[in-house]
Amino acid sequence: MAGSASLSWELQGELKRLERSHSYRRRRVVDDRDSARPLEVSVEGQHCINFCSNDYLGLSHHPEMVAAFKHAADRYGVGSGSAHLVTGHTREHHALEEELADFLERPRALLFSTGYMANLGIAAALLGRGDLAVQDKLNHASLLDAARLCGARLLRYQHVDTGALETRLAGASGKRTMVFTDGVFSMDGDIAPLEEISELCARHRALLVVDDAHGMGVLGGGGRGTGEHLGLPPSDIPLLMVTLGKALGSFGAAVAGDADMIETLIQRARTYIYTTAPPPPVAAATRAALRIVRDEPWRRQALNQRIEQFRQGASQLGLKLMPSRTAIQPLLLGTPSGALDASTRLMEKGLWVTAIRPPTVPVGTARLRITLSAAHTAAHVERLLDALETLSPSLS
Ligand SMILES: *Cc1c(COP(=O)(O)O)cnc(C)c1O
Repeated sequence: MAGSASLSWELQGELKRLERSHSYRRRRVVDDRDSARPLEVSVEGQHCINFCSNDYLGLSHHPEMVAAFKHAADRYGVGSGSAHLVTGHTREHHALEEELADFLERPRALLFSTGYMANLGIAAALLGRGDLAVQDKLNHASLLDAARLCGARLLRYQHVDTGALETRLAGASGKRTMVFTDGVFSMDGDIAPLEEISELCARHRALLVVDDAHGMGVLGGGGRGTGEHLGLPPSDIPLLMVTLGKALGSFGAAVAGDADMIETLIQRARTYIYTTAPPPPVAAATRAALRIVRDEPWRRQALNQRIEQFRQGASQLGLKLMPSRTAIQPLLLGTPSGALDASTRLMEKGLWVTAIRPPTVPVGTARLRITLSAAHTAAHVERLLDALETLSPSLS
C-alpha cells in the first residue's frame, strides 16, 4: 500500500512536469468518419479536415475493402484464434503473403501483426550479442528499440550521411552487421539515399534492412515504394519491411526477402511466434487494398498533385518547407509550445494537424507534421493554406 502510494506521488510529479514543458500528449476522440469523405471527421463535436493521418491514398474506407472485410468475417469470424504457427494462419493470410511477395518482387513475404513487431522480430531473429546494428539517427523508434532489445551493439550515424555510415561500417569488420534505415523518414518526409547505402552494405558485407512504412503504395510508378522510386533492383534491398496500416488503409505489416531469410523469421522471430495472428478479415481487406494500389495509379497522381499544390502555396506564403517531396510535409516550429499553439489555432479553424514534439523528434525541432492524401480535394488544401496564412507571422 505504502509502496503504491509513493509511486503514485512520483508519477503525478512526472506527469505535471510533462504538462509544464508542453510535452503532455492527449488523445482526441474521433466520433465519426464519413465513408465518402474519409478525411472529414467529427472530433469531440467539431467537424474538421484531417491533415495528419497516414491514409495517403484514402483507402481506409474503400467500398471494396469494406466488402472484402465483411465477406471474410462471415466466413472466418473476427478473431484468428491463435498464432500463425498454431491454428491462426488462414487461407486469407496465406494468399496475402503470396500476393505481397509478388507485388514486392521478392521470393517470399511474411505477415506480422504490426510494423513495430516486425522490426523487433527481424532484429531478434538475426542479431544478438557481439553483432552490430547500424542505424540512421532519425530512424523510426521501433527500429531503434529493435536494436536495443536484441542485445546487438547499436551504432547510429548522422541522418542520411553516407560518409558517416561508411566510417561505421569500416570499423565493423568481422562481425555480423546489419544496416537499418527508413525508406521515407516518418517525421521529415525525406528519402534515404538507398543506392549509396546498398553499395556500402555490399562492399562491407552488411545486410541492409529498409523500413518502407511511408513508401509502400505511394512511391514508384507501381506503388512498390522507395526502391522502385529510386530505380533499385529488389536484390539491392535484401530485407524489406512494409506496413499495411498507412497507404494501404488496413492494418499490420510484412517482411519480404529471400526464402531462407523468411524461413528464419518464422523459426526465430519471437514477435511472430508468440502472438495471435491478425484477424482474417483484416488480411482479406488488405488483399483488396493491394489490388487497388496496383490497378489505380491515378490515386498516386492525385496525391502528387496535392503535394505540389501545398508546396507551391506554402512557399508563396514564405513558409519554410523541409526538403520533402513526399506526402509528409513538416513545418518546423522549434519549441513544443510553439507547435502546440499552432496546432490549437488550426483546430479552431477546423483543421487537424498534430504537434510533433520531442522525444518523437530531436529537441529544438518540434513541428507540425502535415500529411497529404489522395482523398484531400484541392479545396481542402486551399483551406489549409488560407489558415496557415493567417498564422504565418508566428510560424516563421
Ligand atoms: C508506423 C511506422 C512503423 C510501425 O508500424 P505499425 O504497423 O504502426 O506498428 C514502423 N516504421 C515506420 C517508419 C513507421 O512510420
